[in-house]
Amino acid sequence: MVSYIMVKIMDIKLNDILVMKKEHPCGGKDFLVLRVGMDFRVRCVKCNREVMVPRQKIEKNIKKVLRDGEQVNV
Ligand SMILES: [Zn+2]
Repeated sequence: MVSYIMVKIMDIKLNDILVMKKEHPCGGKDFLVLRVGMDFRVRCVKCNREVMVPRQKIEKNIKKVLRDGEQVNV
């Protein structure tokens, strides 16, 4: 029997809106993507604060991704 391990890397692009499972201290859940890579730079849409988050950490916390106002599967 052969088993495969699927490693999924989310294809997140600049200007995507990430809707998070866990909210920002301000209560906002939507974050605009400003930089992608090993670390993501995102801006909270509600309070405009910017944060750097490691990719691994942010991917676990993403509930959905909006691109041009529509939900996309990444
Ligand atoms: Zn915020």
